[in-house]
Amino acid sequence: MADRIRRIPVGISACLLGEEVRHDGGHKHARYCTQVLSKYFEFQSLCPELEAGLGVPRPAIHIRRKDDELRLVNTDDSADHTEAMQDWNARTLPGLSELRGYILKAKSPSCGMERIRIHNSDGRVTSRDGRGVFADALMKTYPLLPVEEEGRLNDDHLRENFVERVFLYDDWMSNVKSNLTPGSLIEFHTRHKFQLLVHCQKTYRALGPMLSDLKAEPLQDIAQRYIDAFMLAMKKQISRGDHANALQHLMGFLRDSLGPADRQVLSEQIDAYVRGEVPLIVPMTLLRMAQRREPVAYLEKQQYLAPYPDDLGLRNRV
Ligand code: SF4
Repeated sequence: MADRIRRIPVGISACLLGEEVRHDGGHKHARYCTQVLSKYFEFQSLCPELEAGLGVPRPAIHIRRKDDELRLVNTDDSADHTEAMQDWNARTLPGLSELRGYILKAKSPSCGMERIRIHNSDGRVTSRDGRGVFADALMKTYPLLPVEEEGRLNDDHLRENFVERVFLYDDWMSNVKSNLTPGSLIEFHTRHKFQLLVHCQKTYRALGPMLSDLKAEPLQDIAQRYIDAFMLAMKKQISRGDHANALQHLMGFLRDSLGPADRQVLSEQIDAYVRGEVPLIVPMTLLRMAQRREPVAYLEKQQYLAPYPDDLGLRNRV
């Protein structure tokens, strides 16, 4: 029987799937990825060090600054793998254009997204603000791609934000980028308007007018500027007050299906959410019930009401 759910292609560091590819022959199995996210994400695993020819087991490696250049070397400096990794990056990255997100292993000189140790030519740590050699090339090649580290996915807000961005980026790539028309661009904007509003009011106010004259410039240029700004805004964390504003705004659209008592309960639950007494899912469910009872066409399309599958349970924790 065909899969009912189309899973979204997402890249992942191979050791996080439990593959024994680490330098010591071990893995770093991330159960949240394999047991929860894998229901909706089709993981494509890569181990840059193994695939660049370093083998398993292999000596531990780190990043050293030598003559003002960052080099990927064995920790005892007995071999330099920089060119091997750069060649592998150049061969591999063009084939990753179908990915809609990437989950990286933290602290790795190849895969780490941030706070990677940089050593001097004597092997001493001089800073902790580096990025893994593969992670850096990945993020430069695909600047809009949602990327996160597995450790940061333990944070409720970062996890929710990453999953939301993956679903949104998938919509963009599948329905706009592959079929760019004025209509597909406007429909995308309509679907995701409230998500943008809660993430960044300033960007929300800028992007609406940008789409008001789609003949002013080549459509491709407008679309690129639009999605660059949109994906950047989506990285911003949302406060409870931001969500409360959006929920109240949505309540206005549902005026006909909400009697005075319903409105009272919803307002109380929005206030309780702002005070941190209930999670977002509580007022959101009340709104969705009202929308289901008497659907408002405009809200039918709003992905803000359900930006990803409910059973991920992400809104129970923010
Ligand atoms: S962190 Fe990256 S390079 Fe290291 S074992 Fe995992 S996948 Fe391979």
